[in-house]
Amino acid sequence: MKRLTILGATGSVGASTLDLVARNPERFEVVALTAGRDWRRLAELAVAHRARAAVIADEAAYAELKAALTGTGIAVSAGPAALVEAARMEADLVVAAIVGAAGLPPTLAALEAGISVALANKEALVCAGHLMTAAAARSGATLLPIDSEHNAIFQVLESRERVRRIVLTASGGPFRCWSRERMQGVTPAEAVKHPTWSMGAKISVDSATLMNKGLELIEAWHLFGLSPEQLGVLVHPQSLVHGLVEYVDGSVLAQLGPADMRVPIAHALAWPERIATPVERLNLAAIGRLEFEEADRERFPALALAEAALADGLCRPCVLNAANEVAVAAFLEEKIPFLAIADVVGETLAAIRPRRPETLADVDAADAAARSSAQQFVYLNHVSRFAAQHASG
Ligand code: NDP
Repeated sequence: MKRLTILGATGSVGASTLDLVARNPERFEVVALTAGRDWRRLAELAVAHRARAAVIADEAAYAELKAALTGTGIAVSAGPAALVEAARMEADLVVAAIVGAAGLPPTLAALEAGISVALANKEALVCAGHLMTAAAARSGATLLPIDSEHNAIFQVLESRERVRRIVLTASGGPFRCWSRERMQGVTPAEAVKHPTWSMGAKISVDSATLMNKGLELIEAWHLFGLSPEQLGVLVHPQSLVHGLVEYVDGSVLAQLGPADMRVPIAHALAWPERIATPVERLNLAAIGRLEFEEADRERFPALALAEAALADGLCRPCVLNAANEVAVAAFLEEKIPFLAIADVVGETLAAIRPRRPETLADVDAADAAARSSAQQFVYLNHVSRFAAQHASG
């Protein structure tokens, strides 16, 4: 029996994880489940999976969650500190599936406590990968990637010393063939409709701007200990080849699989073993051909911003991530247009230059400064568009 805590149980990765847990009751047992605000879904999941604890980040939802779980014997708590406590509960694996930098404190707490982490929450690694990998090294915890590309690399990486480069594939998102002009009018509904993957809103928008691939390059840098020059991106619209490792002798090892997150999640949950999943099998003869193309950094400048942040060192990725979280939220609330997401991130990176974060408090400070600056650029974008509309109308 593996004892699991799932941070972000009510989300898309959380749902795929719990689907696998339900299919393998003899292998997995749930310790704690957490959510951000959705206390109803959290209560349902906690009862269905017989969790020992249910934790909600939003303190205002505590009373409702408590009432919903009265008489079940499930311990209920709320707030960011309670999330950290949940991550430290005795378990064999913590699945880190919270979206955004909010997932960093509990994920880091699990690693510090020596609990292995199956990581989907790439933003935590982007902000503080050096703290997370150092904590894992100190405590002996293992960091297992769930992100499909990193999980692919993890599966085919034999020895870091003999690697020439690794390549993360990208679907290219819903606007892969669109001109910048056409992208001007993109709506949130269009941006979250991913062509190959079914995911939460934030990562879907990140996939549409290609920021997701940029965040993943930074994630790969922390996970695999290679130099930024050894990390590449290749657009592969079918999302069947997830990652490739090229060795010094010219061999290239790739991992293929259907575009279903239950494959990499199952790998991380069962590692070092494997478990069966109900996913559709690849039929390469029916697929016929695999397509690849270069990423276009002019139409998708977010990727170039992330690459520059990675090349520039440890404090920039945290700023990049915070600005992107603010900009994506503003886009989803229809405060700024799609193309302004990368503008806000670029402006924030130009305005904020914190020192290298050495502690979680340093990361928090860089994150807060970047968020406040990005909010100002969101506001300025909003005001200037309003003024332009007023002048023309
Ligand atoms: P979702 O938006 O579907 O789910 C996010 C989860 O995080 C929910 O449980 C949500 O709770 C919780 N949450 C949100 N805000 C907070 C907060 N402030 N504090 C605590 N919990 C919070 O996201 P996904 O499942 O799509 O993605 C999760 C992570 O996994 C992201 O980092 C993403 O980049 C990564 N990932 C996702 C993939 C996918 O296929 N979806 C693939 C690869 C990586 P509530 O429901 O209450 O809001």
